Formats: sequence, structure tokens, C-alpha cells
Amino acid sequence: KGISLFVVPQKRIKDNGLSENDVTTAGVYHKMGYKGAPIAHLMFGSNDDCKGYLVGEPHKGLSYMFQMMNEARVGVGTNAAAIGTAAYHASLAYAKERPQGRPIGAKDPTQPQTLIINHADVKRMLLFQKSVVEGSLSLLLQCGLWSDLAHVAEGETKERAELLLDLLTPIAKSYPSEMCCQTTSAAVQILGGAGYTTDFPMEQYYREARIHPIHEGTTGIHGLDLLGRKITLKGGKGVQFLMQEIQQTIGESKNSTLKNLGELLEKALGRVQKVTEHLLALASQNVEVFLADATLYLEFFGIVTIAWQWLKQAVQAQKALVQAVSESDRNFYQGKIATAHYFFEYELVKTISLSQRLTSSDRTTVEMQAEWF
Ligand SMILES: Cc1cc2nc3c(=O)[nH]c(=O)nc-3n(C[C@H](O)[C@H](O)[C@H](O)COP(=O)(O)OP(=O)(O)OC[C@H]3O[C@@H](n4cnc5c(N)ncnc54)[C@H](O)[C@@H]3O)c2cc1C
Repeated sequence: KGISLFVVPQKRIKDNGLSENDVTTAGVYHKMGYKGAPIAHLMFGSNDDCKGYLVGEPHKGLSYMFQMMNEARVGVGTNAAAIGTAAYHASLAYAKERPQGRPIGAKDPTQPQTLIINHADVKRMLLFQKSVVEGSLSLLLQCGLWSDLAHVAEGETKERAELLLDLLTPIAKSYPSEMCCQTTSAAVQILGGAGYTTDFPMEQYYREARIHPIHEGTTGIHGLDLLGRKITLKGGKGVQFLMQEIQQTIGESKNSTLKNLGELLEKALGRVQKVTEHLLALASQNVEVFLADATLYLEFFGIVTIAWQWLKQAVQAQKALVQAVSESDRNFYQGKIATAHYFFEYELVKTISLSQRLTSSDRTTVEMQAEWF
């Protein structure tokens, strides 16, 4: 009938005094990163003398737990984006200092070497990081706004904010978590061999990023949450609200130089609709097949969501660029617009192959037998 939530204190009042509540630490885990956080294995009631106190009503623990958990999940996404941001800026600083190689086509060995930031491949790795971390931060701020509105607004605005936050929490948690493992890896790569040494902080960022796709629910569980629950919540109203928000941004991009990005996002929305309809039709036929690629659906939905955030940023940057007076402001807005283009050209295109996979009739993962490995 559902699990219940208990508070289990370390000590409790017994015989008019404070006594141990039979909660013991079995050991501290030795982890890959996050070494400053003492993650411990707790044991409850080894001597049959542990008391827990019921919170609220029996069998309703899961929904109580989710009140805390949803906020914690957005917090995990924020942590991942923060680590990714630190790695991005550290690798950017290095790329601006490190001379290596010459521009392609420059064959004169007496000429000085160029800084690695001038190589297209290094710029690609920097743009990858910038597009993921700033796209993630943008989505997390968006979720922060909905979270505030869910608390203070009323009526339809409140309902809309609650549903949008609910729908996108698995993405706000998983997209930065999964992608910042890749971006911190790109940061290590930009430093070459130096990135692999402990002389620089990259290897630590790389290790510390890895916990985020695991704790507060693995990415696999968030995929199941998105496709199995959130998409159809309240008759799909959350998805409808999201589509309206995205369409509004596409509308704002029309009549500007960002029109082509709006068109690409519109096409991606068409893919989301097609894939979602295809999968929901499978739900009633074979639930295992329906959910088999839920993690890929989460990735697919996440990329489209971050593309929306990049279009939003680019629309604002375009307006601000016209009025910018200082060179640093102009560089900032140009950088935003260029990164939006990068995201659409290098990341959003991945949704084409993902949609092909998600609508395929191939059932390899479902049909594979444990004995065949
Ligand atoms: C550093 C650290 C800090 C932590 N902090 C806390 C904390 O403060 N509080 C707390 O309560 N917990 C904490 N945890 C525990 C953490 O939340 C769990 O490790 C995490 O939720 C994954 O659960 P699990 O380890 O049991 O993995 P499992 O559930 O065994 O998962 C193993 C793999 O199987 C997949 N899988 C599992 N079930 C399914 C399914 N039904 N369908 C498809 N795939 C599935 C998963 O996606 C995963 O890839 C912490 C863990 C670490 C490492």
C-alpha cells in the first residue's frame, strides 16, 4: 500500500535522560570524488532498541519524501552545472595561455607558435562546455522561477508553474549530471597531459562530476519518471504548457537573424511529438517495450529543452547587442549568439538519430537474454 516515512533520531529520551537510539555507523564509504562529504553506511536497530517516529500518515511516505526530493534533484543538477562551469573556466584560461602548434597552412617553423585557443578543435571543446553549462544554468534558473511562482502565485499561473517544474525536474537533474561528466572530460582534454595530473584541478572536477548521474535517483530512474509518469501527468497538460512556452520563444525569433534557429527548433518539436505519440501507443501493448529506451527519451527531450533555453538566450542577446556600448558587452552577447548556433548545429542534430532509434521496431535490448552476455 506504499511505504511510510519515519524520523529516526540518533539519540532519544529514555528513562528521563538522553540515550543512544541504537543507530550505528557501520563504516565510511571511500569514494572516487566528493572526498569532503562523509558518506556513511548507517545501521538501525542491531540491538533491537531503535525507535522511529512516523511522519504524517502511514503508507504516504513516498509523496512526503518527494517534497524534499524534487528540490534536492534540482540541487543535484545545479551542483553538476557548477562543477562543469568551474572546469570550463579553468580550461578556458589554460587555452588562452598555452602555445602549441601553428595555424593550419602556416608552414614556416621560424614563426611563433599559436595559442591553442586558436585551433578550431579546441574552440569546439570550449563551445561544447560553454553550451552545456550555460544551457544547464539557464534551465536551472528557469526552474527556480517556476519554483518561486509555485509558492507565491495563484490560480492558473501557479498550476502552470507547478506542472512545468514537475515535468522538467528529471531533465534539470539529469541533463547537467550526464553532460557535465562529458564536459569535465573535455576540460581535461584541453589541458592535454597536464589535465591528467594533479597539478591542475581538472582531474578532480572530472571525478567529482561522476556522482551526479547516480545520486538522488540514477539517470535510468529519471528516464522512467519522465516517460512513465510526467509526460501523461494530468492528461499531458505539462507537455502542452511546455510546447506553448517553446512556441512563444520561436515566435520571438522570427523576423530576426535567429529565424533559422527557430525553424530548427520547430522541426525538433515535431520530432518530440512524433516520438512521444509512437511510444505512448506502445504503452498499452507492451509496457516493457514502451519503457525500454526511457533513458534515451530523457536525453532526446533534454537536448530539445536546452535548445529552447539557448534560443531564449540568443533572442535576448540579439536585442542587447544592438544597444551594447562596451566592447566586453558586445563580446559577451556575440559569444551567447555563437554558442546558440553551436548548440543547434552540434547538439540538437543528435535528436535526429535519437528519434530514429526511439521509433524503431528493433527490440534488441528487450530480447537480449542474460545468458547471452
Ligand atoms: C556519494 C553518495 C552519496 C549519497 N547520498 C545519499 C543520501 O544522502 N541519502 C540517500 O538516501 N542516499 C544517498 N546515496 C545513495 C544513492 O541515492 C543511491 O546509490 C542511488 O539512488 C542509486 O541506487 P543504488 O545504489 O541502490 O543503485 P541500484 O538501484 O542498484 O541501480 C543500479 C543500476 O541499475 C539501474 N536500475 C535500477 N532499477 C532499475 C529499474 N527498475 N529499471 C531500470 N534500471 C534500473 C540503475 O539505473 C543503475 O544504473 C548516496 C550515494 C553516493 C554514492
